[in-house]
Amino acid sequence: MLICGLQRTTLIDYPGKVAATVFLAGCNFRCPWCYSSELVLLEKIKKQPKITEKDFFAFLKEKRGLLDGIVLCGGEPSLNKDLPVFIKKIKGLRFLVKLDTNGSNPDMVKKLIDEKLVDYIAMDIKAPLSAKIQISKPKFQIKSKIPMSKYQKATGVKIDLEKIKKSIEIIKNSGIDYEFRTTVVKGIHSKEDIVQIAKDIAPAKAYFLQNFRPEKTLNPDFEKTKPYSKEYLLEIRELIKELFGTCQVR
Ligand code: SF4
Repeated sequence: MLICGLQRTTLIDYPGKVAATVFLAGCNFRCPWCYSSELVLLEKIKKQPKITEKDFFAFLKEKRGLLDGIVLCGGEPSLNKDLPVFIKKIKGLRFLVKLDTNGSNPDMVKKLIDEKLVDYIAMDIKAPLSAKIQISKPKFQIKSKIPMSKYQKATGVKIDLEKIKKSIEIIKNSGIDYEFRTTVVKGIHSKEDIVQIAKDIAPAKAYFLQNFRPEKTLNPDFEKTKPYSKEYLLEIRELIKELFGTCQVR
């Protein structure tokens, strides 16, 4: 478990709770607009100061009774095989646990739910689940059109969409608190894409639209991308809000 960061108190990362957020290194996606390249790219992870598990659990012991929960985010926390053991130790100190995930590891998500190790899951939905775009790729001097999923464009890697769909179903049927959320990025998502995502995941308890911030992005070109206006995201929300118990712009 590579702990590369700790936000000692947060009032916004765990809805309705006072929490701390722990940042775990490593991710299998390469979303070009990602703000956390220091937790994603191996060469940057190596340079990050690390927090030992011993120090992390010493911090938790100090915070018993002061914090409600711990948010596990990354990177992609579900890639860590020892995540269940890590969470058992956190829950042993009587903290609630929220998992932030990209949904690429449904087996781990299911295991954590089955073993009652998570109390809240926030899953990112990066793009519509079905849509494909055509891109031109030079091949033997001939330009051929090959299909690429919108998910691949949004995440920068080939994605097994069945795993993403499986995670969505597991989370929706889990009986625990959850939310789906999409960071809406100009150049990656159109209004139609967000409406399609909403249809793909509906009905669901909660769906949040988060506006993109052009800050220290994994692909530096995205630092020049202007975010959509809040009004535009609110317009999109009007089109989809009936599909969810809660649908908000963050
Ligand atoms: S935004 Fe994408 S690349 Fe960055 S941590 Fe999340 S899933 Fe990984």
